[in-house]
Amino acid sequence: MKCEYCDIIEEKNNLLYEDDDVVVAVRDVAVTPGQISVIPKQHFTIFEQVPPDIVTKCSIMANKVSVSVFEGLGSQGTNIIVKNGTGAGQTVPHFAMDIIPRQEEDGLNLQWQSKQLMEDEMDMAFSTLKDALNPTAITVKKVKDESVKPEKVKEEKGKENYMLKSLKRIP
Ligand SMILES: [Zn+2]
Repeated sequence: MKCEYCDIIEEKNNLLYEDDDVVVAVRDVAVTPGQISVIPKQHFTIFEQVPPDIVTKCSIMANKVSVSVFEGLGSQGTNIIVKNGTGAGQTVPHFAMDIIPRQEEDGLNLQWQSKQLMEDEMDMAFSTLKDALNPTAITVKKVKDESVKPEKVKEEKGKENYMLKSLKRIP
């Protein structure tokens, strides 16, 4: 059985951009008009499984989409969200980055209340994470991204603008 995102990729539903590794799709079920998902074509369930070159590509595309949303939809901000794991509200078992166009006073509440940690909670979190993020334990391969060239994105720009303009008309 295929997942919702694999279906979007296969059926090419509302795709703004597509290359060998990622697609960018406008969502027809969205928290605000113009919500866009950057989705790796290969089915990775969670962030941890996504290879560094694909993470790089998704991040580059999320940034480009965010700029398009600012320019095309006149947004005042974007939330770029990864729901990583069911505990974080992930409902589709396929990694994606969602770009949500925002306006001041748009009524969308993505805020959460922070609280002051107890000293032992802070110590525990700090020491555990510091060990996990030890620089010697992290190897990030330098990625030369050949497939997201400015020319390629430029080719898609006409279509992208058209799609974004269409979205403006949605009430
Ligand atoms: Zn999938």
